[in-house]
Amino acid sequence: MNKSANNAFTPKYAHIYIEKSAKSYDLTTHIMAQFPHATIIEIDNYKHVFSRPRQQFALQKEAAKLILAVKKPPFLYKGAEVCHDFGYKHFYYTSSTLNCVYNCDYCFLQGMFPSGHVVLFVNIEDYFNEVEAVLAQHPLYLSISYEADLLSFEHMVPFAKRWISFAESKRNIMMELRTKSANYKAISSIPAHDQVILAWTISPQEVITNHEPKTPTLKARLHSMKQAMEDGWKVRLCFDPVLHIEHFESLYRECIEQTFATINADQIEDISIGVFRIPKDYLKTMRKQRPDSALVHYPYIHQNGVMTYPDEITKKCIDNVYAAVAAHADKDKIFTE
Ligand code: SF4
Repeated sequence: MNKSANNAFTPKYAHIYIEKSAKSYDLTTHIMAQFPHATIIEIDNYKHVFSRPRQQFALQKEAAKLILAVKKPPFLYKGAEVCHDFGYKHFYYTSSTLNCVYNCDYCFLQGMFPSGHVVLFVNIEDYFNEVEAVLAQHPLYLSISYEADLLSFEHMVPFAKRWISFAESKRNIMMELRTKSANYKAISSIPAHDQVILAWTISPQEVITNHEPKTPTLKARLHSMKQAMEDGWKVRLCFDPVLHIEHFESLYRECIEQTFATINADQIEDISIGVFRIPKDYLKTMRKQRPDSALVHYPYIHQNGVMTYPDEITKKCIDNVYAAVAAHADKDKIFTE
């Protein structure tokens, strides 16, 4: 298990809220067995805790509580336009978990959610049923790690394994599991499956150190990715978000050199490149939560409801990273925003 992820968990979750309706689920039993000394608080609805007004997201991240709940429909959502769809017509995402063990400065969750606590939805079979119903109508490109980092939770709750095993029996699904973790070991016992893409977000070590607290090092992520590729998994590389920080050209160039010195570019499924972009309302909330973050208070511009870099900076970031990646990888495999 990744040490960083483990340390991110250990001091937390001294209190666990459980919806009464969640008590009878197998996953609840599985999770609770790992916290024999936790104080248990029964609740009627997770929103009574998670959605309370005037919560302090940043403070709660430091002492997050766990909330076990039963998700009500819908279980699938249309993918946001700001996200890559990799050419798939029916791009959806789903969230078995709300919030993340990590705490990236630029994380959109702090603008999206009122609380820093972690919600785990234990009724995974209901998700599967809805996916089955959609698959009966059309194929699906499904992101399963969208409002969390599912693989970083895997030692606590085997969501990734359950989703992968679900995908194995389907023909018309392509599933993406995106992570910054180095926790491939948690699913390495499962044979590689053609309908699942394991996607790693890759950042220069300086970005990891300064802006992605609690996430594994670049070296650890690359090692995890390499193991997955050697085991035959489809692997996606995501340089996303590219941040326009001081010396970004050399930082990303060195990161890309290190990446392709570790992994074989020919074995990569594809590569996505995108700059920081976020819905306007989320950024407004984030700026209140992070008054001291230069990254959050950068003078982004507004484009169709999204805050991002001015066009010339976006172009500079993308062009630089693209050129460094294209020196190693087939251009047909590179997706840019
Ligand atoms: S890993 Fe992703 S979801 Fe988790 S804190 Fe960082 S940006 Fe947010």
